[in-house]
Amino acid sequence: MNKTKKKFTKRDIFTAIFLALFVAAVILGGVFLLPKGGFGVLGLFGILLLGLVLLVTWHSTNYAYVCKECKHNFRINFYKDLFAPQTTTTKYLKCPKCGKKTWAKETSR
Ligand SMILES: [Zn+2]
Repeated sequence: MNKTKKKFTKRDIFTAIFLALFVAAVILGGVFLLPKGGFGVLGLFGILLLGLVLLVTWHSTNYAYVCKECKHNFRINFYKDLFAPQTTTTKYLKCPKCGKKTWAKETSR
């Protein structure tokens, strides 16, 4: 085992499975719903929107961020989770404690 690698928690695995299901639902939705025209397109949008809302809600309630400046650990709301610029492990956020904007590192709650 390579110990320098990031350890995956059950939650990370759940997130990955959830993402995979979401992608599968979108692909299947695209294949079966799009040929149906109007309502099919609407249905696909519904799947996309629902999946996105579920995913962001799940993410914002299960992950927290650590401020680079003061190491303060804080959670963010749904909108910040959805709209803040981000990389796979960091997010550009304003720290509620010191007020500085940094690329806060994602961490467990
Ligand atoms: Zn801070």
